[in-house]
Order: sequence, then structure tokens, then C-alpha cells
Amino acid sequence: MVSKLHVLIVGCGTAGLMLANLLEKACISYQQLGMYDELMAVSKKFGALHLIQEDLKHRNTFNARAPGLNVEEIYGDYTQVIARYDLIRVLLSRIPPRKIFYNKRVLSTKHEDDEVVIHCHDNTTYGGTILVGADGAYSSVRQNMYKEMSALGLLPKADAKPLGYDYDCLVGVTKPLDPKKYPVLKDEFCEFQIVLGKEIPYSDVRENGTAVERNFRFSEWDPDSAKNMCDRVRHLPCPYGGTLGDILDETPKEVISKVMLEDKFFTTWYHKRTVLIGDGKVTCYKMLPFGGQGATMAMQSAVALANLLFDIHNVTEPEIARVFKQYYDARSGPGKLAVKSSHQTGSVMHMRGTFGNVFRHIGFNWMPRWAMKKGMDSYNGYKEQIAFLPFVKFRGTFVPRTNKPSRRMISGSNIAMAV
Ligand SMILES: Cc1cc2nc3c(=O)[nH]c(=O)nc-3n(C[C@H](O)[C@H](O)[C@H](O)COP(=O)(O)OP(=O)(O)OC[C@H]3O[C@@H](n4cnc5c(N)ncnc54)[C@H](O)[C@@H]3O)c2cc1C
Repeated sequence: MVSKLHVLIVGCGTAGLMLANLLEKACISYQQLGMYDELMAVSKKFGALHLIQEDLKHRNTFNARAPGLNVEEIYGDYTQVIARYDLIRVLLSRIPPRKIFYNKRVLSTKHEDDEVVIHCHDNTTYGGTILVGADGAYSSVRQNMYKEMSALGLLPKADAKPLGYDYDCLVGVTKPLDPKKYPVLKDEFCEFQIVLGKEIPYSDVRENGTAVERNFRFSEWDPDSAKNMCDRVRHLPCPYGGTLGDILDETPKEVISKVMLEDKFFTTWYHKRTVLIGDGKVTCYKMLPFGGQGATMAMQSAVALANLLFDIHNVTEPEIARVFKQYYDARSGPGKLAVKSSHQTGSVMHMRGTFGNVFRHIGFNWMPRWAMKKGMDSYNGYKEQIAFLPFVKFRGTFVPRTNKPSRRMISGSNIAMAV
């Protein structure tokens, strides 16, 4: 990586922390990021997803361990389920604390001659060669960048439209629960239970207001609205036993939030010295937020960007634009696909009436093995490795396509060379 490159990352979530980890390792010999064992220790294998009626009668099951399809043998691992808290903790543990500034809310960004400057709510400013907006779905970096582009007449109309919304969602993580009360916790595999409400709002809870009004309210993260929504659903029966209220009572209030879910693919990902990664450019929540698309996409976009930054020739604006365009070209295809599949699966999951029931029944219970494998092959078809660290060997029998090592790796030495 060229020595003058100084990267400002706004956002300390999945994408921002992943990128910080990659940049941290950019010149050091290491076995990829070496997090595998640590992440496996705090995650569980995904075993199945069950759809349940609101009277808690079972309807359909998507079985990740379908007979004749050994996911672990073919792809090397089962999909893993991990609490966001644990993922963030592992990512955070490898970054020197002096490089992270907490409690900063970026309000505005400005491109100057050969740098980009961010301005925070506490009146502090920071300058860098490039700015990475990793500040989530309602990215302030994106909003500032779009404002600047709009004033210059450079912003496509579709990107100027606000995010719409489809679902309100309560999110939180309980304290460790008692396995005696919830025996499912002792299982080796993690199985999701999804209740599809016919009349009652297990899912698809909407409130009044236009998309613009609702987006505005989202940005306030109002704890009262989370409480109101908790009160509205706490009497509902819980598929793991008891009611949702029992689960809510085991969840610290400060980690319960109410968020809005929608899919959107923004077509503008960079301008001058600013670039977006993670949810700031693509949000794909409609499917099921826990489908794993969002965090995976966020981390993959961080890998793609870090690989390109490692090989950047200089820090002039044309060279930065070349790198950002390459990044867009590499990641926009998977981004569009994720939003499309999220949208389609979301529609099927929330389809009401007999037609919806039949559709889900066929999709979940009667999908032939070859069709399941085709879907999984395409999901696992390309895996980008960190180009400046020794490559790992794929563990499964299925061999995905991958990228080439960085041209700056010294041949055979497994050590990345710093410029
Ligand atoms: C309810 C819900 C459940 C989900 N469940 C899953 C799941 O199970 N699996 C999965 O793969 N994905 C899931 N997702 C999606 C996943 O969380 C995101 O796709 C992923 O976290 C995107 O990472 P990110 O780094 O872009 O954004 P985030 O992880 O949201 O991080 C953004 C960061 O930016 C910070 N920030 C925001 N504004 C500013 C500002 N102005 N200045 C400074 N910092 C700022 C925030 O505090 C935050 O730390 C879920 C999403 C939701 C809403």
C-alpha cells in the first residue's frame, strides 16, 4: 500500500471493522486474518429453518442437512450463526484502540484539493486521502456525497429517492438463557423458528407515515417506540415456550431497537475521494434480516476494496477513481443479485392466502436436491481471498473461483511487500 494513503473509515460496524482489520494487516505476513477458530468457537452451525403458523402449528421446513447433500463435505463448512455482538468483539479485538475514535457522529464531509475532510458533532475534524462510508443503511457519508453530487447535477434520479420501508422490526440479543428452560440451546445446530402471522403482527408490522417521514424517524432510534412495539407483541406465544414477553424480559432494554427494513440498491458508490461499503450502498433486508446476506456482503465488499487499495499506484484523484470504479465493477453484480433474491424471497415469505401456502410448501418441502445444490453452488461460486496474505486452501470438495494474489506479493515468500 502506498505510504501516503491515509484512510478514514466512518462506521464501526461489520464493514468498517472488517476493512480496518484488513488495512491493519496489509503489510504483515499472516494466515489470512486468522480469525477462523475464534469465530467458530462463538458460532453455531445452521441446521434448519421452520415456518410456523400463528397457532404454532408447524408448516414447512428448509433443511440445511437434507439427506444426500452434505453441506460440510461439499462447501467446507455449514453456514454459521453468530451473535452480532460476538462478531464485532472479535473484529474489534485486533485493531489497536488508538485507531478508533468512539462517540463521534459524522455530520458533514468535504472534498478539498488533495484530501477529504470529515466534520463531527463535537466540532472535531479529520482529514484523509480517502474516506470510506461504512456507516450503515442511513449513511451520513452517503447523504453528504449525494448532496454534493446533486448540486453538481451528477446524481442519478433513482439514487435521489429516499429509502422506502416495508417492515418494522424489533431487534435485540437476550442475556444468556437457561438451557433447562430452553432445551433447544443444547442442540449442536441452530434452527430458526419463523411464525408467519395471519392476523397478528409476528412479522410485517407497519405503522403509518410516508417513507420520508419514517426514514426521518428511523434516524432518531427512539427508545420509546421500541418499548411501544414490545408492549404490543409481548403477549404473543413463543415457539420456544412461554411468550415473547419472557424473551423480552431477558433482554437488556438498551440493546432493544426498533428498525425499519427495506431493500435498495444504490447505483452511485463513489465520488472523488469518497467510497461506500456495506449497507451504505446496498441494503437487502426484505428477505429475512438474519438470512446472512447483509453482513456477508459487507465483509466481502471490505475485502474487495482492501485488495484494490493495496495495489493502488498513487493517491491522485484519477488513480483513486480508477480503483473505485474497479471496486464497483467487481461488487455491483453480487450486490444487485443479493437485493433481487432478498426481494423475491421476501415476497414469497410474506405472501398471504392459499397460493402463498402452496408456493412455500413446494419451495420448502419439494425442492429437488439438484435445485438446492445449484443454488448453493451459485452462492459459493466465487470467494475472494485477501490478496496480500497467504491464501487459504478451500476445505470442501466444491472449488469456488477465486482472485489472484496481489502482484506485490514476493513470489514464494508468503510476505506482502510494502511500498
Ligand atoms: C434487524 C436486523 C437484523 C439483521 N440480522 C442480520 C443477520 O442475521 N445476518 C446478516 O448477515 N445480516 C443481518 N442484518 C444486516 C446486517 O446487520 C448489515 O447488513 C451489516 O451490519 C452491514 O454492515 P455495515 O458495517 O454496513 O453497517 P452497520 O453494521 O450497521 O454499522 C454501521 C456503523 O456506523 C455507525 N454510524 C452510523 N452513522 C454514523 C455517523 N453519522 N457517524 C459515525 N458513525 C456512524 C453506526 O453506529 C454503526 O456502528 C440485520 C439487519 C437488521 C436491521
